[in-house]
Amino acid sequence: MRSVRHGVMLVTLLALAPTAVANPSFDTLLDEAVSVRTSDVGRFRELLARLDELAAYATPAQRTHLRLLHAHRLVIGGDPQGAISLLEPIVSGGASSETRFEAGGLLANVFAITRQFEKALATLDRILPLQDEVARREVLHRGQLSAGIVYNQVGEFGLGLQFASRVLADRPDGRSRCIAENLSLESQLGRGGGFDREMAERAIRHCDAQKEPILAGFSRTYLARALHAQGSTSEAIELLAEYLQTVEDTGYPLLIAHYHALLAEYRMATGDREAARMHAEQAVSQTQTLALVSAEPLVIAFRTLYRLAEERADPKETLAAYRAFAEADRAHFSDVKSREMAYQIVRHQSQQQAQQIELLNQRNALLELERRVARQRARAWLALAVLLAGLLASIGYWALKTKRLQMRLKRMAETDMLTGVGNRHHFTQEAERLLAQCRREGRVAALLAFDLDHFKQVNDRFGHAAGDWALQQVAAACQALCGPDDLIARIGGEEFAILMVGRDAAAGRRVAEQALARLAAIDATSAGYDFRIGASFGVTDTCLSGYGLERMLSHADRAMYAAKRAGRNRVHQADGSASVLAVAGFAAGDPDDQPRPTPARSALAS
Ligand code: GH3
Ligand code: MG
Ligand code: MG
Repeated sequence: MRSVRHGVMLVTLLALAPTAVANPSFDTLLDEAVSVRTSDVGRFRELLARLDELAAYATPAQRTHLRLLHAHRLVIGGDPQGAISLLEPIVSGGASSETRFEAGGLLANVFAITRQFEKALATLDRILPLQDEVARREVLHRGQLSAGIVYNQVGEFGLGLQFASRVLADRPDGRSRCIAENLSLESQLGRGGGFDREMAERAIRHCDAQKEPILAGFSRTYLARALHAQGSTSEAIELLAEYLQTVEDTGYPLLIAHYHALLAEYRMATGDREAARMHAEQAVSQTQTLALVSAEPLVIAFRTLYRLAEERADPKETLAAYRAFAEADRAHFSDVKSREMAYQIVRHQSQQQAQQIELLNQRNALLELERRVARQRARAWLALAVLLAGLLASIGYWALKTKRLQMRLKRMAETDMLTGVGNRHHFTQEAERLLAQCRREGRVAALLAFDLDHFKQVNDRFGHAAGDWALQQVAAACQALCGPDDLIARIGGEEFAILMVGRDAAAGRRVAEQALARLAAIDATSAGYDFRIGASFGVTDTCLSGYGLERMLSHADRAMYAAKRAGRNRVHQADGSASVLAVAGFAAGDPDDQPRPTPARSALAS
């Protein structure tokens, strides 16, 4: 079944054929092919053959244009399927948006001609979003007009009018304007709203001036319908009758059929039955040359013939005429409905697609959100980890600092500030612990206690600082004699004690004698003073005094005082009882061991 609009479409399509862009040689031939495409089909074919030979040297864009012209050739040559197979790859291929738009417009038309309205509409859906990317006005106008034509075909006259108006607003050139105005009139009529009579007259004049008798002819049918609808039937008859010859001269059957069908209807309305019958029969015969089953002129013509038969009251003739009318009407009605249905189907599909796209977009947005949340969570964890690490580090730092402080405080609490050796308190605690350990292990330990001789005089004669200096020298000298397990402390003003684990009194005595030698060797002149240092030592051990610290200290003290009494600067060993053995190092010890100092040498300024 083919449509009444087939003819309108084909006429329009010829006018909408692509134009070539200016470019040397190949483009010159393309231009020529475009200009003769409708007027001289033979020359057109010849030019396409020449262009085919040169195609190997053409640019991809030029070859695409050539394919577009070939598609056009196939359409007018009656091979729309061939045109479709040329156009489809261009629309879906990698050509420029403009070229795809141009090919798509043509393709939509070819689909419409072959009554594949769903495909035509789907093609429009694909190319219409490219409108903004089309630079050449004539290409844009052609595409928009193609869209308008297709939309009118499927009964969407509102859309058809929109596209016509869009093109007209852009003040198109001659032929495009003629098509756009024609499209606008067709849309206005289809919508059933107001009809712009002035525009119709303008359009007719313009199309006449453009030497487009077919388009002008269709515009006249639109105007005639509008006039008839307004009640100006005789004016409509006048208009159609005046141009009937011009229309017949075009040799375009469908347009001629329209003229006759409308004239038949209007003559019938004005009571001119003979003329009505003649025009109706003409309309039927013109339509039949196109082998069209569904055509509006056919419906109008058969309806007129049916009415005429009815008036003559010949039941047989009436029934036959009614059957013909009813069949044409049904075919036309179902054709129109199927086209309208195509639009609804495609709209529905594209709505579904849009919904799917929306769904996908939402899903993507959700995924993106999830990713962002995950990233933020990871960042939050990292921040927390960093915070914790910082916290731990600062806790560690403060713990270390506190520990150091504690150690410092402990050291300070244990140390005699002036000399750096232990203080009395520390000595007492540590010595008791060590002695308890020795007792448990059955080890011996020696205790040395010594007091500087005539130290008061040092202070008195050289000042307190000199005394302090001397105390520091003494402590350093004695500490140098101690091993790592020995404990040395200043237990009074100028009184010191040394506990030596694992040594007995004899060994302690030897250490004391070495100490005496070292004290004697301290050179005060290096510090700007002039005195010597001596000390009196008392020595005991655990064998003599037991493991009690107090008792050991008391025995060592007594021995020390005994040494003082014996003349100072010497060593006395405790006797293990209340008395003290007079073992003055220099008197009873090895005479060769130490130089024997005289009391006069000790701790006195020279
Ligand atoms: P002796 O031989 O009998 O022990 O005579 P000495 O002068 O040492 O007598 P004494 O024990 O009475 O004097 C101790 C002096 O030590 C008194 C004090 O001035 C001095 N002295 C005590 N502690 C310090 C100190 O930390 N620094 C200084 N410079 N002198 C101190
Ligand atoms: Mg003293
Ligand atoms: Mg003293």
